[in-house]
Amino acid sequence: CICRQALQYTYLRFVCQNAGAYQPRGAGSRPNQRSHRQNCPFEIVIHANGTGDKLVVLSMSSEHNHTIVPEAFRHTRKQRKLPEDARERAKLMLDVGANVTKVKSYLMENTGKIVSNSDVQNLRNQLREAKKGANPVITIVEQLQSVPGATVEVQESGGVISAIVYQSEAMVRIFEAYPEVLIFDATYKVNNRNMPLFLPMVVDGNGNSRVVAVILTANEEADTVTTAINFFQRTFKSCDKVRSLLVDKDLTALKILTQCFSNAEANLCQFHVLRTFRRQVTESQMGITASQKNAIIENLQKMVHSATQAKFESLYSELQHLGSPRFMEYFDKNWYGCRQQWAWCYTKLSMNIGLTGTQRLESFHRRVKGVTGRNAEMTSFVGDLLLVLRATDEELNHQSFDALNRPMPPPPRTSFLYSYYRVLTPYAFAHVQKEAGHISSTTVNDGLSKNREGILSVTRQSCQCAAFNAFLLPCRHILRLREQELLPLFHENLVPQRWLQRYWLSVTEMPSTDSSVTVHTTEKKEKRVLTETQKFRKAHSVCIELAQVASSVGMTEFNRRISLLEYVLQAWKEGTALGIEIQSEPLRREPLQHLPQGDRTSTSDDNVFDTFDIDALLGRTPSDWSIQNNRPGPNNRKQRNSPKLSDSPKLNDSPKLSVVIRLSDSLKLSDSSKLSDSSKLSDSPKLSDSPKLS
Ligand SMILES: [Zn+2]
Ligand SMILES: [Zn+2]
Ligand SMILES: [Zn+2]
Repeated sequence: CICRQALQYTYLRFVCQNAGAYQPRGAGSRPNQRSHRQNCPFEIVIHANGTGDKLVVLSMSSEHNHTIVPEAFRHTRKQRKLPEDARERAKLMLDVGANVTKVKSYLMENTGKIVSNSDVQNLRNQLREAKKGANPVITIVEQLQSVPGATVEVQESGGVISAIVYQSEAMVRIFEAYPEVLIFDATYKVNNRNMPLFLPMVVDGNGNSRVVAVILTANEEADTVTTAINFFQRTFKSCDKVRSLLVDKDLTALKILTQCFSNAEANLCQFHVLRTFRRQVTESQMGITASQKNAIIENLQKMVHSATQAKFESLYSELQHLGSPRFMEYFDKNWYGCRQQWAWCYTKLSMNIGLTGTQRLESFHRRVKGVTGRNAEMTSFVGDLLLVLRATDEELNHQSFDALNRPMPPPPRTSFLYSYYRVLTPYAFAHVQKEAGHISSTTVNDGLSKNREGILSVTRQSCQCAAFNAFLLPCRHILRLREQELLPLFHENLVPQRWLQRYWLSVTEMPSTDSSVTVHTTEKKEKRVLTETQKFRKAHSVCIELAQVASSVGMTEFNRRISLLEYVLQAWKEGTALGIEIQSEPLRREPLQHLPQGDRTSTSDDNVFDTFDIDALLGRTPSDWSIQNNRPGPNNRKQRNSPKLSDSPKLNDSPKLSVVIRLSDSLKLSDSSKLSDSSKLSDSPKLSDSPKLS
C-alpha cells in the first residue's frame, strides 16, 4: 500500500536513453554515431489511479532496438559527469603537480565513474585559463576575494601597494574563539617582489595551530607593518584578549605588536634567544678567551631556563664575575632590561600553553615554502599559499573527526578524571591527566607547595606553577589541595571555555569558507520549516520503520520496546521534554573517588556533564529533539538558529526526564529505576488506541 500523501506524480513515462529521433545539428556532414538517439521503442507508462492512492502501469513495451550492455551505461556522457567537488579536488591535485594518470585513477576510484585522460587534460586547461591575468596585483586581490566570506584589504601609498591583508571567515572565527596565544613572525624570500609574509597563528582548543590572517607587506619598515597590524586590530574584536605573544627578538614589528596587543606578555622564542647569544658572544666581538666565552654561554643558557627569579639573579651576578666588561655592557643594554620576555621564571607566568618559541609557525613557513618555492612569481605564490592553507584546514578537519570517531580509551567512570574526559578536548584532557598522575607525590601545606619553581601559593582554583599558568587548567597542586579539603576534584568552574570539547566543535564545525556545496544544501534543509502535512509524512515514514524494527525480535524484548514507545508517546502527549542519553556501558551513578558521598551537596549540578550532547557531537541545532540540560551554546550563530527552549513555559514547568538507551544490538533499558518508571506507564493508552497513523 502506498500512502496517498507520498504520491508526488500522477503520470510517469520511463524511456530508454536511446529513445527519440536523432536531429542533425549541422549540415549533416558528420555521421550521427555520436548520438544516443535511435528511436528505441522501450517505454513504461505509469499513472495514478482514480482515488490517487495507487500507481497503475498503463502500458509497457519491453523491447529495445539495440543491444543492452550494463557496463556501457556507466560510459554514457550523463553517467560520466563528475560531481563539482571531485572536479575541484582534481584541479587542486593538478595545481600541486600531480600527473594526469594519477589524477585520473584517483577520480575513478573515488567517484566510481569512467574518466578519460582527455577529461583530466580539460580540467588542466581550465585551470591554466583561470590563472592567466595581466596585472598580478589585481589578479592576487581577485584570487583572494574569490574565497567566499573573505576580507581583503589592500593598502596603497603613492600608487604602490604597501600591504595586502587577507582573512577568511574561518580565520576570523577561530581568532575570536581562541585569541589567548598569538604566534607572530615573518618569513622572507617567498615571492619575487620581496614582500615579507606574516602568518599570525593561534592555538585552538585541541592544541592545533591555526593561521588567522595572511599579511604581505612591501617591506618590514615600521610604518608599513603598523598599518597592516592596525587592520588586524580593526577586524578582530578580541585583540585585548591576547595573553601572550610568541615572537622573535629581531622582529621589527615587536614594538608595534606589544602596543596593539596591550594585555599580552611578549615571550621571545627561546631557541632564537640562545642562537643570538651564540652569534653575538664571540671571542673577537667581546674580546674574551675561548674558555670565557664557553662559561658565558653556559651561564646564559642556565639563565634562559631558570625556574626562579632568585636563581636568575644569582646567575646574573655569576655572569658579572666572569670578567668581561664589554660583554656586560652588551648584556645590560640588550637583554637584562627585557628579561621578563625571555627568562623562563618570568615567561612561565603567562598563558602560553607551554610554548617556548615560534617553532609551530616556523614549521608552517617551511611547509608554505615547500609548495610555493623560493622567490615565486606573485600570482602563483598567492594561489599556492591559499592551497596550502586550504589543504591544512582539510587535514585538520579530518584529524579532528577521526579523533572523535576513534576516541582515547576513557578513564574508569569512578575516577574524577572521567568528568574531565567528558568535557575537555583530547588535548586539554591529556594535560589534566598528566597533572593528575602527580597528585599523590605532591604536598600542599597551608596553601603553599614547594618544588623546583620555589614556594608556590595554591588556592582551590589557582596556582603559581607553570603548568597552571600555561593552561589555566587544574594542576597537581590545585587537585591535591581540593583532595585534602574534601572538595570535588572536578568542577566546571575549573575549566575555561576554550578547552571545552563542545566549544571546540561549535567553533570548528561551522561550514568553513571552503566547504563544498553539499554542506550548504544540508544546512538549508535543516533550516526548512515544514508544513503540518510534511511533518506528518516525515514522522510517518520513521514510524513505519520503527514498527518494522520493533517487531523483529522475541516477545520479551518486544514488550520492552513497546513499553518504551508508549512511554515516549505518553510523555509527548503531556508535553514533557524528553532527552536521550546514549551510553556504551551500563549506567551507574557512583560518588567521585576522592569524596565521601555525604559531602556532595549539589549532586544534580555535578552530573550536568554526564549528559551526552548529541547535537553538539553531530554539529546540529537541537531542532529534532530536545536535550536535557540544554544550555545556550557558545556560538552566537548557533544560538540564533536553535529554538529557544527556555522561552517555552510548558517545557520549563514539566519535569525533565531522560530515556536511557544502550547502544548495542539489542536495545535494552539498562537502569532498573528507569525500567520501573516505564512499567508504571503500562496502563497508558495502547498504540492501537491512538489516532491512526495512516
Ligand atoms: Zn533502448
Ligand atoms: Zn624561533
Ligand atoms: Zn600548580
